[in-house]
Amino acid sequence: MADAGDLRDFTQPDELSDLTIIINGTPLHVHKQYLAEWSPVWRRMFLESFTDHDELKEVQLPDKNIDEFTELLHCIYSTQKPISVHNVAFLLELAEEYQMERITKRCEEFLMNQERSIEILVLAQKFHLKNVYKRCVEFAKTRTLEDLETDPETKNLDPQTLLSIYKGKIEMLLDYSNELKQNEDKMSQERDLLKMEKENMKRSLQSIQKLWDTPNKRCYRHMSDNLYDYSCAECNEKMYREVRKLCGEGQHLRRYFPKIPPK
Ligand SMILES: [Zn+2]
Repeated sequence: MADAGDLRDFTQPDELSDLTIIINGTPLHVHKQYLAEWSPVWRRMFLESFTDHDELKEVQLPDKNIDEFTELLHCIYSTQKPISVHNVAFLLELAEEYQMERITKRCEEFLMNQERSIEILVLAQKFHLKNVYKRCVEFAKTRTLEDLETDPETKNLDPQTLLSIYKGKIEMLLDYSNELKQNEDKMSQERDLLKMEKENMKRSLQSIQKLWDTPNKRCYRHMSDNLYDYSCAECNEKMYREVRKLCGEGQHLRRYFPKIPPK
C-alpha cells in the first residue's frame, strides 16, 4: 500500500500532463488519457472539445472540494489509493457523476467487507449497491425498533427501504412464533406423559394401601377378621411379600406406559 510520500502531488506540473483542473484557484495537473479511460463523462468532454479546434487545456470545477477530488485522482492513478471509511461516501458521489463504474465497484467491494450498519444501508440505497443493500437490510431487521428509531441515519432511509426492513422483521417474528408453538406442542406432549405416569403411580400406591383391608391377603386364620392383626407374624410375612411385589412393579411402571409418538 502506498504511503503519503509515494502519492503523486497533482499541484506540481508534470511534463506529460495535458489538462489543468482548477478548483477554487488551485491547479491540479492531470492527463486526459488517464481520466478518459476511467470516465466516459470526461472522455466525451475531451472529444467534444477537440472538434472545436481549440483543444481543452483547462477546466474550472468551482463546485468541487479540492481534497475529495484529489482523493479521487489518487484512486485512479497508478498509486491507486485504497477505498476507506473516510473517502467511500464522496468517491461514490463523484463516481456516479463521472460514470466511473470501476470506482463504484471498488467502493461496493469495500462496503461488503465492512461491519453492517444503517449508515452503509443509506449509501447502498442512494447509489443502488444491490448486494450491500441486501446485506444491510438483513442486519437492520435484527435491530429492535428502539435501535432503529434512535439511529440518526434511519431518517435518511426511504419508505421502501423501511418497508423491506419491517417486512423482514415480521417474517423473523413469525418464524420465532412458529418455533415457540412447536416447543409448546412438544412440552404439552411431555406434560401429558408425566401426568399419566403420575396417575399410574397413584393408582399403584392406592392398591398397596388397600392390602391391609383385603381379608384374602392375610393368613388362613385371619381371613374372616374385620381388622388386620399387626401381631400375626404370618399375616405380616404375606403382606411383606405382596408389598414387595407391587413395589417391584412400581419401579418398572415407566416401561409399561405407552409412549406418545413424536410428531
Ligand atoms: Zn394372620
